[in-house]
Amino acid sequence: MPSNFKYKQLKDYVILCFVLNFLVGSDVEKSILKKKSINFTTIEFEVVSKEGSRNHLIWLHGDENTAKLSINKHLQKYGGTAYLIKSESREVEYKDTRIDPNRIFSRPGSFHALKKFKPEWSPGTLKSALDELDSERKDFLKTIFPDSNGVLIAVHNNFRGYSIKSEIENSTKVSLSQKENPRDFILCTDPSDFKKLSIGRYNVVLQNEPPEKDNGSLSWAALKNGVRYVNVETRLGWLSKQKKMLEFVEESLE
Ligand SMILES: [Zn+2]
Repeated sequence: MPSNFKYKQLKDYVILCFVLNFLVGSDVEKSILKKKSINFTTIEFEVVSKEGSRNHLIWLHGDENTAKLSINKHLQKYGGTAYLIKSESREVEYKDTRIDPNRIFSRPGSFHALKKFKPEWSPGTLKSALDELDSERKDFLKTIFPDSNGVLIAVHNNFRGYSIKSEIENSTKVSLSQKENPRDFILCTDPSDFKKLSIGRYNVVLQNEPPEKDNGSLSWAALKNGVRYVNVETRLGWLSKQKKMLEFVEESLE
């Protein structure tokens, strides 16, 4: 076989790869994502990471599908590390009850979360469940908190009733936009992040002082540990809105 034929074959192969890469670009990109999983006690999270942003993203409520889609799209574009809960419902099973995974990031929050669907516990069992959550929480937070001053971005959706108005009493600063729906908003815990985020078109609140009663939300745990935290909240189904808000956060807080 003449050597120039081999060269032509190789050239055709390279061109074919290039065309395939172009046609199925998103799938090729998906294959770059690295996956593994981590646990907070029996609650499992898929970890998806891609080279790029130093920021971490977290999806805590399994029924908020728009938020999960937004995270996946965001990761493709900017990279980063995402922690995605393995659940299809808001509450997850824990021991013989169900708990809201965004109410167990403090001991008092966990106490209420554990009693919500199971008011009665046999002697000693509630304390041991709380102790278990306390000890596992430390490791979990250590993993999900970003290094080198990155931002932890929680992504949520709301159905009805909940809006920025519910957060105003716990906020030290509020920036409201007439053009925006009050159910689409950004919550942050760092004053200099608030400064950058409130320049944009979105509703933003700053919560940099812990409340009297810590309800166990991840935002307070991040604040207490000096981690920059941002929550991007939109109405369920408003995917392009949530994607744009995430882009805005990523680019404003570089
Ligand atoms: Zn949520």
